[in-house]
Amino acid sequence: MSLIHKFKQSDDYYVIDVNSGSVHAIDKLVYDILDENGLGSKEEVSCRLNGEYSKEDISEGYDELKELVDGGILYSKDLYEDIAIKSVDEKSYIKALCLNIAHDCNLKCKYCFAEEGEYHGKRMIMTAEVGKKSIDFVIKRSGPRKNIEVDLFGGEPLLAFDVVKEIVEYAKEQEKIYNKEIRFTMTTNATLLTDEIMKYADENVGNIVLSIDGRKEVNDKVRVRADGSGSYDAIMPKIKKMVDMRDKTKQYYARGTFTRENTDFFEDIKHLANEGFKEISIEPVVLPESDPLSLREQDLPIIFNQYDKLYDEMIKRHKDGNEFKFYHFNIDLQGGPCVYKRISGCGAGNEYVAITPNGDIYPCHQFVGNEDFKMGNIFSSDELKEDIAKELKEANIYNKPKCRECWARFYCSGGCQANNYNFNENPNKDFLTPYELGCKMQKKRIECAIALKAKIME
Ligand code: SF4
Ligand code: SF4
Repeated sequence: MSLIHKFKQSDDYYVIDVNSGSVHAIDKLVYDILDENGLGSKEEVSCRLNGEYSKEDISEGYDELKELVDGGILYSKDLYEDIAIKSVDEKSYIKALCLNIAHDCNLKCKYCFAEEGEYHGKRMIMTAEVGKKSIDFVIKRSGPRKNIEVDLFGGEPLLAFDVVKEIVEYAKEQEKIYNKEIRFTMTTNATLLTDEIMKYADENVGNIVLSIDGRKEVNDKVRVRADGSGSYDAIMPKIKKMVDMRDKTKQYYARGTFTRENTDFFEDIKHLANEGFKEISIEPVVLPESDPLSLREQDLPIIFNQYDKLYDEMIKRHKDGNEFKFYHFNIDLQGGPCVYKRISGCGAGNEYVAITPNGDIYPCHQFVGNEDFKMGNIFSSDELKEDIAKELKEANIYNKPKCRECWARFYCSGGCQANNYNFNENPNKDFLTPYELGCKMQKKRIECAIALKAKIME
């Protein structure tokens, strides 16, 4: 089990104490002395570094490190495993919903996991009745939790703006009655935004995720209409207008996907930053290897290089007072998120579920349409299928052999359960084997995120 992780980012060296989460900026000598498997004896270290540093320097560096180790600051013990074992039997409350407002979409993006909105089924739009019943469902299932998150998702949710409005207005009434706070997020391809919709969303939706892949030529290759034409020229002005309305206090993301077609995705992030967006997310596509857009092992060096370039750019812009945030570099080094989240991640099937237009319940939007994972229906009085929830809950970092050993376990929390299930190399599909390519990118992003935070806090 990795107890520390050392890495170099740009010209700086860092070590993380995995179990406590403490991060230390170190010099090259200390970096070279440190061994991920434990601190060896002074003789062993002197012998290993003989010729690279003077005996005195090695001795001094070693003594300083030894103090940290003896003080329990490095190679500290794991305090969470008992909590993980207990949490499996604790009752979960649902605090977040993904409402698939429309199993339909007016774009035909080439990498869409929802099969252009259809989710392996037929096209369908949620009725206000299903939406309201879903709000009742989550209020009832949220138990003592006050804060509830609802994602207005698709396909494209704005194909049914009237339904969205009815659901939001209903939720506003119900949250007062039940003393809850319901916060909405909406993910939209931005094509259908009008002044009226923007005004309503701005006033009523806590976070708006606006899909755009970056440069026009990149966006227009994949985010296309039925006739094959690109969407960039139609969406960019609308996204800008929507973001301008949000001012500095309200949340949004300009969010895109990178594929094999744009492994130079740093250019897309830079493009969005140059267009004035301050909250940006560009995520790796996850597709079977047979898909021409899928990312492969051989793409990793260029992908890592893009994250390095992004790190340098963000440091530079921070110094110039012109910074932006990159979703995957957001990390909290001071204690968050909570222990349960660190161990189990997203909470799919337990704290979070997705509801389809006909009221079927799945552990999350990525499982929608896979009948093996249907947990119930909001119109049925039957209990949810607890075996699915339990299997997902048990898939925490301590039960995943690779995660158990991994230095990134408390930041990554064991990866996306759906990606693990769908894309790991285990022929007997399971949640317990991580999606390897995702792990490698995740670890690189975590290093960049930690270094960025440390550097900015200097
Ligand atoms: S999913 Fe991968 S990166 Fe994440 S903790 Fe597990 S092994 Fe590490
Ligand atoms: S399983 Fe993956 S896609 Fe589903 S909620 Fe969790 S992290 Fe998100």
